[in-house]
Amino acid sequence: MSPLALERCLNHPSREAACRCPSCGNFFCRECVVLFESRLLCAACLAAQCAAPALLVRRRSPAAASALALAGLLLAWWLFYLAGWALIQWSEHTPAAALSPALAPPRSSTRS
Ligand SMILES: [Zn+2]
Ligand SMILES: [Zn+2]
Repeated sequence: MSPLALERCLNHPSREAACRCPSCGNFFCRECVVLFESRLLCAACLAAQCAAPALLVRRRSPAAASALALAGLLLAWWLFYLAGWALIQWSEHTPAAALSPALAPPRSSTRS
């Protein structure tokens, strides 16, 4: 006789235990456990399993996500500002002849 048959369901003392919850270790009848990710979990452990991922998602989203988005926007703006400033500095200190012909202003004398 297996020790499982001697155990009783935690919720139903009149019923024999059908399995043991692998998470909390309590014995339950077949009615009190649910198959979840190939494991038989009791209702309390199933609720804990379902609540855990939702809590992780909720922890990150509201304030942190907007702050991260704002920081990214500021960084992008700063990079574009720096790039624009560098381009202006470069074009001011570079004679027009040194630029590529496409960027140089067209001259009427070169037209044939
Ligand atoms: Zn359990
Ligand atoms: Zn039960």
